Amino acid sequence: MDIGSGYLDNLISELERLPGIGSKSAQRMALHIIGLPMERVVKLADSMLNAKENIHYCHECFNLTDGEVCTICKNMERDHKTIMVVENVRDLSAYEKTGKYKGVYHVLHGAISPMLGIGPNDIKLKELIERLKGDVDEVIIATNSSLEGETTAMYISKLIKPTGIKVTRIASGVPVGGDLEYIDEVTLLRALDGRIEL
Ligand code: ZN
Repeated sequence: MDIGSGYLDNLISELERLPGIGSKSAQRMALHIIGLPMERVVKLADSMLNAKENIHYCHECFNLTDGEVCTICKNMERDHKTIMVVENVRDLSAYEKTGKYKGVYHVLHGAISPMLGIGPNDIKLKELIERLKGDVDEVIIATNSSLEGETTAMYISKLIKPTGIKVTRIASGVPVGGDLEYIDEVTLLRALDGRIEL
């Protein structure tokens, strides 16, 4: 769009960098923002800044939280001896939405990918092994069924096996290459219920 405004161009190009936003959507959003009352724009900008400044990783599980420890780790009614390992916060929230999983999580923030040069030290794996020194009965590996997810699952199970802690992998009801966040709750629960011991 060319109305000769550098400000508008800037706004559009920043919006375009967001995931899933093409140039048409970015343009529409930018024009919408400009049409909003000033206080709404301030609220939007503030909410972004506040979220960025105040949200960080939970010290226990690396979920996102405003405090030291996330609400899941803080909840004493959950089973802290069962840890589900997921690749990212989106996958964690997919399982949380089912409302059926009562254990806690460990968010890796990535998966091992030799192709992309992502090794075990680039994800929160040391931190997981550290947690296992505590009282843990089972580690459920719920990484995606992509090549990276499977590689990561294998790697983790080999690390944990010698500790004698039970290691399970969610069933392959989850389609190959499937991103957990897009899978419906029934399939997620079936994958969890049908998990197999590694
Ligand atoms: Zn946590």
